[in-house]
Amino acid sequence: MPVDPAESMDVSGDTLGATGANTVQTVTGPIPTADLGRTLMHEHLSIGYAGFEAHSSRPGPGRAEMVAVCTERIRQLQDLGYSSMLDPCPSDLGRDVDLMVEVAEATGFNIVCATGLYKEEEGGTAYWHFRAQFDDVGAVMADQFISELTDGVGSTGVRPGIIKCATGPGAMTDYERTVFDAAAAASVATGAPVTTHTDRGTMGGLQQDVLTAAGVPANRVIIGHSCGSTDTGYHMGIAAGGSYLGFDRFGIGTLMPDVDRVASLVRLFEQGAGDRVVVSHDSVWCWRGEPFPPALAGRVSDLFDPTRFDREIVPMLHDSGVTDEQIEMLVVDNPRRFFEGVPLAELGT
Ligand SMILES: [Zn+2]
Repeated sequence: MPVDPAESMDVSGDTLGATGANTVQTVTGPIPTADLGRTLMHEHLSIGYAGFEAHSSRPGPGRAEMVAVCTERIRQLQDLGYSSMLDPCPSDLGRDVDLMVEVAEATGFNIVCATGLYKEEEGGTAYWHFRAQFDDVGAVMADQFISELTDGVGSTGVRPGIIKCATGPGAMTDYERTVFDAAAAASVATGAPVTTHTDRGTMGGLQQDVLTAAGVPANRVIIGHSCGSTDTGYHMGIAAGGSYLGFDRFGIGTLMPDVDRVASLVRLFEQGAGDRVVVSHDSVWCWRGEPFPPALAGRVSDLFDPTRFDREIVPMLHDSGVTDEQIEMLVVDNPRRFFEGVPLAELGT
C-alpha cells in the first residue's frame, strides 16, 4: 500500500474508516473516544457459521427475536454501567451490521463492528480459495477490507472500526497468513487497529510479529483470547512487544476455568502489564441456524453471559488484591487508549 502509516494516522476520524487519534467509528457513526466509557472488547450480537443458510429447516431466531434478545443483554450491561462494546465478528461469520445498527439505535449503546476474515477451519474459505485460482487473493482481500473501512459495508454505509483476523490452534495456515497480510495492509492504509482470534493460547507471538513486520504499530493490535493460555511467559512476550492481550473469554469454562484466567491476569498485574489487557466474554447472544442441538440451548445461553465479569470475576480479582482502580483500567482506560493509539510504556521482561 502506498500510504505512509504515520501520515495516515493524522487523517481525521471523519475520513478514516476506523479512528482518528481521538475518534472511534461505531455502527451509528464516529464518537469521541472519551465517550466510550466502560467497554467490553469482544462480545457478539449474533454469529452464523459459514453455511448456516443450508440448514433452512432450522433458521434460528427471527429478526424481532434477535433484536429483543440483544436489547435485553445490552440493558443488563447498561445497568452495570457499560456504554460500549466491540463486536469483532468477521465478515464471513454471519456478521449482521443492520442488526447492530437497530440494537444500537434502540438502546443508545455504542457498538463497534469489524471487517476481516475468520480462521481457515471455520471461515467462509471456499469463496476465497476459488478466487485464489485466478488472482493475488491477498490483494483482493486487502481492497475489500479497505473498501469497508472507508466506504462502509455493502450499501449500508456502516463503517467498521477495527480489522479482525484469526488463526487456528498451533499453526498459522497459508490462507490465514494471506488474511493477516491483507489485514496489515488495510491497517497501514487506513490507520484502523486490529484484533485477533487465537485458539488454545497459541500463535499470539507470531500474529504480533506478522502484523508489526508489515508496519502495524504494536499498540494497535489486540491478541485475542490470550486467556486461553496460563503461560505468563507467553503473555509477557506479547506484552513486552507492545500489544494488548484479550482476556476475553470469561465464562467459557470448557476451554479454561475462570479461576485460571484470573490467576493469569493477576500475574500480569504483578509484572506491570495491567495497562495492556482488555476483558470480555466472547459471548454470543443469537446463533443463526441451529449449530447446537435444541437440548443444549439452555446451557449455551447460560454459558454466554456478558454480565459475568462484573458479577463473578471482579470479586475473584478483589480477593487476589486487584483494586477497583485496576479494574476500571481494564474496562475504561485500556479500551480508550487502544482506540486512541496512545503509546504504551516499555516493559521489562
Ligand atoms: Zn469472538
